[in-house]
Amino acid sequence: MVMLRIFFFITAALTLFLSGNLTCAVAQNRSEIRLVLQITVDGLRADLLNRYETGFGKSGFLYLTKNGTYYTNALYQHANTETIVGHTTLATGTFPSEHGMVGNVWYDREAGELSYNIEDVRHPLLPTREDVTKGEQRGEQVDPAQKLSRTQGRSPAVILAPTFSDGLAAYYGGRSKIFGVSGKDRSAVSMAGQTGKSFWFSTDNGDFITSTYYYKAYPDWVREWNRQRKGEKFAGTMWELSADPSTYLLAAQDDRPYEADLRGYGRVFPHRFGDVDDKLLNTQLLVSPVGDRLLLDFSKALVVNEQLGQDKIPDYLSISFSSVDAVNHFFGPSSLENEEVVRRLDATLADLFAFINNTVGLKHTLIVFSSDHGMADMPEYMTELGFPAGRLDPDEIVNKANAAGKRLGIDEVVRFFFRPYLYLDEDKIASAKLDPVVVKEAIANTLTDTDGIALAVPSSSLQSQRGGPLMESVRRNYHLSRSGDIYIIQEPYWFLFEKGPVANMHGSPWRYDTHVPIIFSGPGIDAQTVNRLVHPVDVAPTIAAFLGMTPPASSRGVPLVEVLQ
Ligand SMILES: [Zn+2]
Repeated sequence: MVMLRIFFFITAALTLFLSGNLTCAVAQNRSEIRLVLQITVDGLRADLLNRYETGFGKSGFLYLTKNGTYYTNALYQHANTETIVGHTTLATGTFPSEHGMVGNVWYDREAGELSYNIEDVRHPLLPTREDVTKGEQRGEQVDPAQKLSRTQGRSPAVILAPTFSDGLAAYYGGRSKIFGVSGKDRSAVSMAGQTGKSFWFSTDNGDFITSTYYYKAYPDWVREWNRQRKGEKFAGTMWELSADPSTYLLAAQDDRPYEADLRGYGRVFPHRFGDVDDKLLNTQLLVSPVGDRLLLDFSKALVVNEQLGQDKIPDYLSISFSSVDAVNHFFGPSSLENEEVVRRLDATLADLFAFINNTVGLKHTLIVFSSDHGMADMPEYMTELGFPAGRLDPDEIVNKANAAGKRLGIDEVVRFFFRPYLYLDEDKIASAKLDPVVVKEAIANTLTDTDGIALAVPSSSLQSQRGGPLMESVRRNYHLSRSGDIYIIQEPYWFLFEKGPVANMHGSPWRYDTHVPIIFSGPGIDAQTVNRLVHPVDVAPTIAAFLGMTPPASSRGVPLVEVLQ
């Protein structure tokens, strides 16, 4: 009995000692962090890291997956898997229902027009050159979401939840330097939060730009970077394969009739960049590995000139690479172009890690890696393989909804449709003296009955807790004033849009759109692969916990224990 007690005593003492040591180790790792480097790859579906692994070097993706804690089964839980939605979820640790970014574009009921997520008329772009202010020689906007923007102004004002970076600013009394940069405005602005600063690539003139929300005038180093016009050096050159075609898994998938040709850019390698005066030049650079290279180059200038990671107060840099997504939109994720752009990003990442090691030290850097959404394969590609899929014409969806309204006695009940939301005319429903719930349900039932639509969800049904995982994902996406009255979910591999200048899309709640990698790498973090189910809302709380901070105010995720052990 006495022996047993002694044994228990020793075990307890040992446990206490070890856990004390553990806390000590975590605290020590924390105190070593001088830079949080959050890397987001737009549209990097999780399985692409496996599919292309044989083409990777040792110091890019494989540095992360072999040295970090690598989550292979991370799934977004909201329905509308788009860029601003995913980025803001990573940044805030909460769902669109709370951070308010329900889509890249939503219908502004009060104004009666579409609204681009981070547009803000109060904060116009800060001009880098005369041509931007005068609107001369402006590039042609191809991004289907940005194209709908009413103003060139940008700010994070519409984001309703604090980000990890906002928490960092508060924790260190505003002494942390906080930056978000990207090929896209929305991917830079969302990550920097309300307190950081952001720059993004302008497809108008190839400069990295910002708005008056952040600066009154450009810092000298940004002016200098832009003055060099690094993008223009690629004008008239080619995007060619970087290795022998036989080394590519998808070598045979270059010339496919359903890929999009960006006016002269072509569907097959080599892709020729337009001349200096071509209005599509900068867009073409973004739809190639060059977009990511330019972003890397700008990021290096930022780290050096803003002296990130040089003292004991941790700084934050978010780099969101846009080229994989851009390439996916034109050529699809099962194209040779996709394999090549991911392979080139691997080299870009290797370059970034070497640079960070030389300037900040990887032992002082917490790297957080993920993606904002995955990507669907094109319906035409899937049909070719024998899987039934197609594209739904938005006009037909509207016609069908209006026909259902007509049967209830309302003429043209649809006020607006922009995927995935259908907005109804509340005044017409009221003057017909009909119960809006009955009208919404009748229209939703008719739409659910359509080929290619899996489920149409009326917002009225979201209040009850009924429904399975699909309903749950729509509920997490629902914001009272921004979301529409009916959420339309396409069947797998179906698109809610017709082929235009852009051929391919993401945005569904299906797993090809929700499955993304999550990797944490840094001092004290184990090299391990974790297969359990986790979610991108866990990312921001995990960074906060690693630094000993309270999770972002409205975050719903939980800190990932494998990173903190
Ligand atoms: Zn996209």
